[in-house]
Amino acid sequence: MITEIDIVLNPKQASDESFYKPILAQKLKIKVGRINGIQILRKSIDARRRYIKINMKFRVAVDEKLPVAKELIFDYPNVQDKKKVIVVGAGPAGLFAALRLVELGYCPIVLERGKSVEDRKKDLGQLHRTRNVDPDSNYSFGEGGAGTFSDGKLYTRSKKRGNLKKILNVLHFHGAQDEILYEAHPHIGTDVLPKVIVNIRKSIIAAGGEVHFSCKVTDYLLDANKITGVLTQDGKTFKGEAVILATGHSARDVYRKLNESDIDIEAKSFAMGVRIEHPQELIDQIQYHNPNGRGKYLPAASYSFVQQIEGRGVYSFCMCPGGVIVPAATGENQQVVNGMSSSGRNTAFANSGMAVEIRTEDLAEYEEFGPLAGLHFQEDLEAQSFVEGGENLTAPAQRMKDFVEGRKSENLPKTSYHPGVVSSEMHKWLPEHISYRLQEGFKAFGRKSKGFLTNKAVILGVESRTSSPVRIPRDRETFQHTKVEGLFPCGEGAGYAGGIVSAAMDGEQCADAFDRYYAKE
Ligand code: FAD
Repeated sequence: MITEIDIVLNPKQASDESFYKPILAQKLKIKVGRINGIQILRKSIDARRRYIKINMKFRVAVDEKLPVAKELIFDYPNVQDKKKVIVVGAGPAGLFAALRLVELGYCPIVLERGKSVEDRKKDLGQLHRTRNVDPDSNYSFGEGGAGTFSDGKLYTRSKKRGNLKKILNVLHFHGAQDEILYEAHPHIGTDVLPKVIVNIRKSIIAAGGEVHFSCKVTDYLLDANKITGVLTQDGKTFKGEAVILATGHSARDVYRKLNESDIDIEAKSFAMGVRIEHPQELIDQIQYHNPNGRGKYLPAASYSFVQQIEGRGVYSFCMCPGGVIVPAATGENQQVVNGMSSSGRNTAFANSGMAVEIRTEDLAEYEEFGPLAGLHFQEDLEAQSFVEGGENLTAPAQRMKDFVEGRKSENLPKTSYHPGVVSSEMHKWLPEHISYRLQEGFKAFGRKSKGFLTNKAVILGVESRTSSPVRIPRDRETFQHTKVEGLFPCGEGAGYAGGIVSAAMDGEQCADAFDRYYAKE
């Protein structure tokens, strides 16, 4: 008999697998020896009260073996001689588009401006040592895209939950831990992600696809209104049946080139703000309602806040429990922060983006830049943040309460941000439509969660790459650019995703859309 059972455990029981079978046997009123296999289907923490409950769902095999989970095994066909599709960008959107193309029997040619994960790691080491940002190899650009050196959170607020389960299964097949298959808020961690990305590359190449690094696409080959291929910076031409453009939201040169080439792009609302860091112990105390913190058996606690302030959303974003803040600029004269954590989420710090929604009507003074208005606004604020920080990736920073009360911080707490922080009156130089809303948002979050609004926390500038300020318009049905046949704008950079899994889902959907298009031709 195979059966499914929900049980509620305490944190100690949930953290130790040896408790599972006896508890399940008791619940089923059978002897432990009759259980031949168990599989965790779901695990979530209920921390609404001080007595923390762990809700778990199991599949249990009694007197027989657990069947092999076929959905966890992927057998990619050889596509070497099949029709070629160009995929620009090896972030989650591009890589999942490529894998899906293989499944559908097409040969993906992946072109990535950055380097392989292995070489990218060296460049990040160099970035921290020299404080010089390589414009093609950094925390956003390179194999795996912006998601490689991250917390690897694998959940999405997106309502388009389509093939989420499949994405998790593919990541698991390529080396991600079992927990991502059943945890309510799964994450991989920056120590595991690079291995997963390398394995995805190996799958694409083993199937006969191609992955080219240091291969920056700089122009598009068009025949009337149909795309036939791309040109790269080093003068090469790549031709294919179609182009999936998955270059992420930091590839500003891509937006500029499209705009110059009269390939329509449009301004969209986006979000900007700061990154905030609290002691993890304080977040544990607040979220687990316990002055002693999380204890031995619970994971580092996270939080999620959202509040409307004068018609715009203010919200926490990409929270990294037990993580570190990293310099996420992609070019010179930019000061940009983001966050990442390892699978163990075990630093003493809890960081999160704190973003304010920005609509095109908030940027009247940037009107002259048309669809690139938001992009210019981002650039200006990143440049100002760079100057305020001392022009060497040191981040301008202010204690949280000092920021809310409009006061300079006389000193700053220790932070996880390796290049260091410098005290700055951020309430004065952040644009008022951002700083005012952040101040009011922080007050609201402090009311919701006692202890959250505190001078033990510090904000760092600026969190400017939360979402794309530009959309590359595509048809709802065909997923092709509204004016260019065969061009599939994809992922976060095109404005159709936000985060690793939603970008990956969009990648798959673009590959499926290409398949429908090709079948019709
Ligand atoms: P990207 O990941 O940006 O990939 C685009 C790729 O295209 C890049 O590799 C880039 O080098 C390449 N490219 C750009 N221009 C060109 C060109 N002209 N020619 C060739 N290649 C080009 N999201 C989560 O869901 N969970 C998290 O925990 C999380 N943490 C993050 C931490 C950090 C530090 C950062 C920076 C981001 C994090 N994000 C997280 C966001 C997430 O990484 C992105 O939403 C996601 O990677 C977007 O996927 P994408 O494939 O659309 O674009």
